[in-house]
Amino acid sequence: MAEEQVSRIKKINATGAMKALMTEYFQELDRAGQDPGAKVAWCTSVGPAELLRSFGFYVYFPENHGAMLGSSRLAGDLIPAANAAGYSPDICSYLTSDIGSYLSRRTPLTPAFGMAGVPRPDLLVFNTNQCRDVKDWFGFYEREFGVPMVGIDTMRSIETVTANHLEGLIAQHKALIPTLEAVSGRKFDLDRLKAVVASSYRWGALIPTLEAVSGRKFDLDRLKAVVASSYRCTRLWKKVLRLAERRPSPITFFDGTIHMGPAVVLRGDPRAETYYETLIAELEARIAAGEGAVAGETYRFYWDGKMREHAELFAGHGVCVTASTYCNSWIFEALGDADPFAGMARAYTELFIVRGEKYKLDYLERMVRDYGIDGVVYHDAKTCPNNSNNRYGLPERLAAKLGLPYVVINGDLNDLRLYSEEQARTQFEALVEQLREAGQPS
Ligand code: SF4
Repeated sequence: MAEEQVSRIKKINATGAMKALMTEYFQELDRAGQDPGAKVAWCTSVGPAELLRSFGFYVYFPENHGAMLGSSRLAGDLIPAANAAGYSPDICSYLTSDIGSYLSRRTPLTPAFGMAGVPRPDLLVFNTNQCRDVKDWFGFYEREFGVPMVGIDTMRSIETVTANHLEGLIAQHKALIPTLEAVSGRKFDLDRLKAVVASSYRWGALIPTLEAVSGRKFDLDRLKAVVASSYRCTRLWKKVLRLAERRPSPITFFDGTIHMGPAVVLRGDPRAETYYETLIAELEARIAAGEGAVAGETYRFYWDGKMREHAELFAGHGVCVTASTYCNSWIFEALGDADPFAGMARAYTELFIVRGEKYKLDYLERMVRDYGIDGVVYHDAKTCPNNSNNRYGLPERLAAKLGLPYVVINGDLNDLRLYSEEQARTQFEALVEQLREAGQPS
């Protein structure tokens, strides 16, 4: 390690607790997958996990597995198997990695957590709020395993989420969900309460399937408890991210992509809350001591997109990537709604990824101001247009409005054939140089 340099990134002590919690979660799933009496539901990352947990399902997230296939560098070996099965190299590389993993019978879950393999599903539940790929992804497993698949088809590119959007969603589901036919026949005005009721029915349409597969009756009190826990988790995760508004920031985006694990796979489980309380205590101690995550923090960047590389490169230039679209996508404040169905419906429709360009511009402007951002990195992920916000002029509009420099990195989530590390490095360094020449800030 002749070129090893002293890292400018301060390590987070709570990482050990987070890893222990994630191990516990995966080992529980492993046992559930082998126990005929336990029920496993596969859920898309922003699908109705709370509803599933209220039925006692063990909830597994294939996208999380897709991300692991990328970080473990297995994806490159596995994607061709999915391509050969007819899944294009141009579609989501989390999907092609995951299906390739299934076809090749290889998973990082075994070496990382001692799991026998991916837990077999009893039920597949999707929400297309993020993209259509998730439905096609789960459709593959529906055919493979012969288990039921149910889900929510959410419209996209929404500016303001209105009662009309919710009414439109109900209409879409009429043909699929008999119980909604009767409900959507009622007049749905713009009254907020009625929108809440309407969305409640939409989610409620999943219940008969969930009851049949889980063998349990729906319990509203249990659902309320799970959603309440999920809400507390989301508030704590938001607090973690908001601590990065401080100068120097006690946490970077790269830390965030690791520590968001419990907010992703364990929302609705009180263990996630306990973990974030520990993490917050450590970050607040850093703030009190005047310590930053990056030694000598000089510039503060915003990261838009899913790529998570180059923490050391940025830190080496005194750059702290303090905020991101990705980490903030796991804040679901609407879960605080008194009606848990309404809370889930709204929370999973208010997501950044679901929203239109005007909303996104306003959102990014707020983030830049709140976090004192000096420059923005946009990641154009070739196989995920849904998480690539550079394709319709957004960077140019934000730059024109705020006079903020930015860079667009071409790459991908998992398919490294689409990414040039050298090119990205040059672009990052050019952005820092631009700031230095402009003499800001320091
Ligand atoms: S949002 Fe992107 S990464 Fe996630 S499942 Fe859809 S296409 Fe794949």
